[in-house]
Amino acid sequence: PVDRSPEMQEARLKLPILAEEQVVMEAINENPIVIICGETGSGKTTQVPQFLYEAGYASPGGAIGITEPRRVAAVSMSQRVAKEMNLSHRVVSYQIRYEGNVTDETQIKFMTDGVLLKEIQKDFLLSKYRVIIIDEAHERSMYTDILIGLLSRIVPLRHKKGLPLKLIIMSATLRVEDFTDNTRLFSAKPPVIQVDARQFPVTVHFNKKTPLDDYSGECFRKVCKIHRMLPAGGILVFLTGQAEVHSLCRRLRKAFPYQKNNTEDSVEELRKFKKSRKRRKVLTLPKIDLNNYSVVPVDEGDEDRDFDSDDDAAGSDLDLDLGDGDSEEDSSLPLYVLPLYSLLAPEKQEKVFRAPPPGTRLCVVATNVAETSLTIPGIKYVVDCGKVKQRFYDRITGVSSFRVTWISQASANQRAGRAGRTEPGHCYRLYSSAVFMDFEKFSAPEITKRPVEDLILQMKALNIEKVINFPFPTPPSTDALAAAEELLIALGALKELKQQLAAKLSCPISALGRVMATFPVAPRYAKMLALSRQHNCLPYTITIVSAMTVRELFEELDRPAVSEEEAAQLKRKRVRFSQMQKVWAGQGPMQKLGDLMVMLGAVGACEYAGCTPKFCEENGLRYKAMLEVRRLRGQLTTAVNSVCTDAGLYVDPKMKPPTEAQVTFLRQIVLAGLGDHVARRVQAEELLDDKWKNAYKTALLEDPVFIHPSSVLFRELPEFVVYQEIVETTKLYMKGVSAVEPE
Ligand code: ADP
Ligand code: MG
Repeated sequence: PVDRSPEMQEARLKLPILAEEQVVMEAINENPIVIICGETGSGKTTQVPQFLYEAGYASPGGAIGITEPRRVAAVSMSQRVAKEMNLSHRVVSYQIRYEGNVTDETQIKFMTDGVLLKEIQKDFLLSKYRVIIIDEAHERSMYTDILIGLLSRIVPLRHKKGLPLKLIIMSATLRVEDFTDNTRLFSAKPPVIQVDARQFPVTVHFNKKTPLDDYSGECFRKVCKIHRMLPAGGILVFLTGQAEVHSLCRRLRKAFPYQKNNTEDSVEELRKFKKSRKRRKVLTLPKIDLNNYSVVPVDEGDEDRDFDSDDDAAGSDLDLDLGDGDSEEDSSLPLYVLPLYSLLAPEKQEKVFRAPPPGTRLCVVATNVAETSLTIPGIKYVVDCGKVKQRFYDRITGVSSFRVTWISQASANQRAGRAGRTEPGHCYRLYSSAVFMDFEKFSAPEITKRPVEDLILQMKALNIEKVINFPFPTPPSTDALAAAEELLIALGALKELKQQLAAKLSCPISALGRVMATFPVAPRYAKMLALSRQHNCLPYTITIVSAMTVRELFEELDRPAVSEEEAAQLKRKRVRFSQMQKVWAGQGPMQKLGDLMVMLGAVGACEYAGCTPKFCEENGLRYKAMLEVRRLRGQLTTAVNSVCTDAGLYVDPKMKPPTEAQVTFLRQIVLAGLGDHVARRVQAEELLDDKWKNAYKTALLEDPVFIHPSSVLFRELPEFVVYQEIVETTKLYMKGVSAVEPE
């Protein structure tokens, strides 16, 4: 029996899925595999685990496991469910790559999909679980797809053993044919339960014109207009990345300052707020398209109805100019602005779920995470820039680039849907309807878009040799599979078969490959770890690999500043950072390790100083990234110790710099992992064209590549280098560069 608080119980009863509890549970009792579709916010993630728990599906030895494609969701949903059920985190727990609070009492476990994949390697039958829920299946993340393929085999195996396992696949869209109509995956079509969401109508407003590039500025102007003119209700803005989110938050906070200590006087505030809106209306009376505001409730106060009667600018959709707003600070309109993106600390993410301070309007500026993973209460207005930042990979060369592209129509509709959860809402699309019509209908599954060597190594470690026969919901391209096998053979992780069998993509895993597969990092880095036992190099390799794996170790100091003050501060930081970079790069032979030595030095210095936010801030390091590096070092150290039981490694916060002999060996290790990432400086006599000035030539690319300006080796230009990755921006740039000697 679950002892929920009356408020919780009341809130739950409002969720559409509660009405379907019986239907859902009957389907689950009678079928091994069930698919549940329901709009974001209908209660799938928070309620289905509770239904199962109350129906007796969980016990400490037989848990309910729920996978999420994003860490954000795994952490926050476990906390939410624990709270709703009034149970401790010892019982409702989470596990993500670096951390978790799972105990032997855990009965409901939220985890990222990657975590469950690792568990399958240790225990193919997943005997700890009685139910697995694959959540957010519509996102089609690579690991989610693979898990569904694997579970399609595990479920019948468990049935044969007489220990049945239930599989529940949950999706926010009805587009589940890749799972239901794929007989290689599920020979019997699983039942699909559709939960009707109580979705209020959302009026969609397209822009007349599509801004060429300044969609951030356009978002700013739109939020200002909404906040100044439209009735109460939260605003949710979709942007593409963390930097954009922060910069818009700063601009909005500056335009509509909100002081914490004001909240006591909220009634007074509110009165002032309303009054000032009346005043302002006279000053800046807008020409707006009133047809768009027909849904405004009549009892919201006369201010708003006034807009409804101003009918002379039909089609111009709030088309007035309020000035830039940056300059005119408006203290009487408090806007409670919160950022939301995946790398944000969980306690900061939690803020969006709480009611905003009285007398303020909530405005959440988010990346894609708010599209389906999290539902923010009280959102009435959505501002959608129509873009998403994605990483693109070249299938053959692995060159990657971050590109901001248009979203799919399905995504745009998901975003719009966020506005209609509690009452009718509005979605402002900052692009024209013609542009929308040109969007792809759906986004392609991740597995078709990125290199798959890590996935293939994991699958081979599960003894799935003929990867091509695997029941993928959507298979990766044969090119991508072939490139992955080739790299894994080159790294020694797979045994190359004679008689051209390799062409059929069925090389078995080698002993080295098995060791590599136990390390939770990309195969190249796993290879470096597997080679590092000599010369006591492991602690260094572990640190370098951790630093290379964690995203964005260094603060972005080249970002555009929003004020002169910030510009000056950034400049100071850049000067300081370039000094530190030289210090971290070390002396003599160490310098040859280039950017990898900088990473090693930075982590070393940061740990020596106790890894404080202050140290990071002063030295251009991202605190959150440094914490991740620390956790990953811990985790890799444990992984290495369990492979070579005599290594006796521990994470030393006072790690000494490597000796000369160690540096030499580290450079060989790096070359072994990045052997296909060698580049040679173009010789003077080869300089036919100016575009080859300071350029490097690689084996795979026709075009010149360059050392990234942020690299310590940018001015050195060594003859031979290896690089961690090539990223395409204005040019092809190598990042994470070390010098190597020709053989
Ligand atoms: P779905 O998985 O179908 O998208 P969820 O189960 O995630 O739906 O959410 C159901 C409801 O629970 C949403 O309306 C959301 O506002 C609410 N909710 C979820 N997490 C929290 C939280 N941490 N705090 C407050 N409300 C929450
Ligand atoms: Mg959900």
